[in-house]
Amino acid sequence: MELKEEEPWLYEHHSKMLQMVAVQVDGAQKGLLQLRKNGHNTGPLKFAKFLEYNTFTYNQSGFQVGNGFLYLSKIGKIKLKQHRQISENSEIKQVTVTKSKSGKWYACITYEIDVVIPTLSFQKSVGIDIGVKNFAYDSDGFVTPNPLNLQKMLKPLRRIQRKISRRQPGSNNRKKALKWYQIIHERIKNRRKDFLHKVSTQYARKYDVIFVERLAKLNMVKNHRMARSIMDSGWGIFTNMLDYKVMTMEVSAKNTTLKCSGCCSAVPKSLAVRTHRCDECGLILDRDHNAAINILKKGLDLFGITLDCGRQNDQLPQELRELTPVEISKRSRKQEASRFAEG
Ligand SMILES: [Zn+2]
Repeated sequence: MELKEEEPWLYEHHSKMLQMVAVQVDGAQKGLLQLRKNGHNTGPLKFAKFLEYNTFTYNQSGFQVGNGFLYLSKIGKIKLKQHRQISENSEIKQVTVTKSKSGKWYACITYEIDVVIPTLSFQKSVGIDIGVKNFAYDSDGFVTPNPLNLQKMLKPLRRIQRKISRRQPGSNNRKKALKWYQIIHERIKNRRKDFLHKVSTQYARKYDVIFVERLAKLNMVKNHRMARSIMDSGWGIFTNMLDYKVMTMEVSAKNTTLKCSGCCSAVPKSLAVRTHRCDECGLILDRDHNAAINILKKGLDLFGITLDCGRQNDQLPQELRELTPVEISKRSRKQEASRFAEG
């Protein structure tokens, strides 16, 4: 309130929206502290630059969503192109408005719905190894290559970057080029998101539980190669997507590449070696496939299902597939049946 007396322009903004800014700063501060606690090296919290500040949130009040319009207090009625129907009788909790870098405006509307959470049970589980060469390799031997167009998509981005660097700072032509850069960047981001959605949905439909490696996300984003860094940030988004579509559990990444998935002996190999060859048991597998099976084994171990070493290796994936579920309630049996009927 006192701040408002001193800064009268604040009256021009919805009070809840201003409150949310404070909440956001508080959240960022807490997140930073948590990172520090976990041993990460972080600098102080930075002020967002004017041009980089592109999101605001209306929480609880000050908004109304109608047929093709969005009303925001102190701003007014805005035409809205709705991508999804809001279910009836649901109470809208919050509206977040974002301006994308290419200048498009988006409103993200949050509301509560009743969901029935199925009982914990699983029949089909899989381990996924996420890598650089292939996007994903799973313990059933299924490979999802990196989106082929990634390199292709990066070409125009590099071209426009060169253009920007050649143009006079502050000139209109440079501004134009910058705008194009943002548009292309956003297009790549959208395509990547689309790809990640498709892959994660596929896995969610096929399996009940998915195990993935815990990635050292912060270290990965740091590298400078563009293609790498774009996919790197994709991995984190991918696990998040999986997590809200299907039960996803992270296991430690320790030794998943080193260990032989057949006999558990250590088979050291450099990054360049793509095939896992075990002298102990004779197992020959793609390096990432071997890792994926190890991830699955680690995950099942969390549920008390331990697969001992030294069994016939060519049978291993088959055995994993036929694992009996821990507990299946009648309801999930029905769900399982209907899911098959649909598919
Ligand atoms: Zn072996």
